[in-house]
Amino acid sequence: MTIDSIKSSLQDHFQTRFHKRGQVFYAPGRVNIIGEHTDYNHGFVMPMAINKGTYITIAKREDNQLNIFSQNLSEAVSIENINSFNALTGENRWANYVAGVIYFLIQHCALDGHTGADIYIYSNLPMGAGLSSSASLTIAVGYAYQAIYNLSCPKRRLAELAQKVEHQFAGTLCGIMDQMVCALAKESHALCLDCDTLTSEQVPCEFENLSFVICDSSVKHSLADSAYNDRRASCELAAQVCGEKTLREVTYDKLVSFGEKMPKESFFCAKHVITENQRVLEAKRAMRAENWHAFGALMFESHQSLQHDFRVSCDELDYLVELSKHFDGVYGARMTGGGFGGSTVALVEDQRIDEYQEYIQSHYSHQFSLSPKLYTSRACQGVRSLM
Ligand code: ADP
Ligand code: MG
Repeated sequence: MTIDSIKSSLQDHFQTRFHKRGQVFYAPGRVNIIGEHTDYNHGFVMPMAINKGTYITIAKREDNQLNIFSQNLSEAVSIENINSFNALTGENRWANYVAGVIYFLIQHCALDGHTGADIYIYSNLPMGAGLSSSASLTIAVGYAYQAIYNLSCPKRRLAELAQKVEHQFAGTLCGIMDQMVCALAKESHALCLDCDTLTSEQVPCEFENLSFVICDSSVKHSLADSAYNDRRASCELAAQVCGEKTLREVTYDKLVSFGEKMPKESFFCAKHVITENQRVLEAKRAMRAENWHAFGALMFESHQSLQHDFRVSCDELDYLVELSKHFDGVYGARMTGGGFGGSTVALVEDQRIDEYQEYIQSHYSHQFSLSPKLYTSRACQGVRSLM
């Protein structure tokens, strides 16, 4: 389906449900192509927006009520007065992402008068698969709401409000990468984000004959949360032993000279973070030079480092990367996201993609009795109006 046909069918659904015309907005999901576990260490990340995302059809109301319908969940939630919103619990929790971002926007922009809206949500992103359906949702809703109410909230500020929603209404203590890329991404560019200064740079990510293939391993090991906290603490300890606030200030030589004074885990975690930051900067240079073989090699190196130094990979992800390494037409592959399951991302020649997908499907399901889900994308544009 084309974006135009999705848009017109959503307008029909909106009309049927709310008996008026709605305007359509869209924000993409994302994949991080290099720079893993560097964000909370004030380092560099390089996500790009993908070709799937969340569509919001929306219209103002003459009161302060919020009516939200999610086509994906077939569920409706009404909030009597959004100006005095309190977090929802239980079954309706998903609507916190929507109401939360609107609530923060109303406060931030000091909107007075009516604040209500009717909202119809449809997303073609899988939820909870690491493609950031939640950031796609909050950014799409926030952008749509500020457009219909003529608020002027810069995208960078919107990203901060959307992050605050994750923290305060969803209990997810995430960084700001996802929200920034959903909001700011430019077509054919990845977004190199400096998580220390929160400045970003659009990096050309355009090629004639290559695409990124995301492979959802369909596993999420229970270790993920506790390991995240452990690794985070190990990184903080390493920085502290080196006499710095964060690993961003620690050079590899300095780490080595203080290596004996810290637990082994801390040393290897810090080694990953420091080398990964260098890889992101090298990746940026490779992209500018359109040297996709060099870029792919950095993806493989990143995986190695996550596997052996940071130790957040798992058999399923390692196998997917190993398979990719042995497939002619793959330039690079790595796990993406927090680890212990989730997805891999590979850079693959367009003409080999069908075969690559079949190859991965058959080998992976044979080895693990699981069926992986594959998505192909190039770097897409961030949030926008489809009016
Ligand atoms: P991810 O962001 O990696 O997809 P999260 O757990 O952060 O995973 O976010 C998924 C949650 O976001 C869902 O459980 C749901 O609450 C909410 N969500 C995302 N997309 C939609 C949608 N289209 N309709 C309703 N809720 C959604
Ligand atoms: Mg999320």
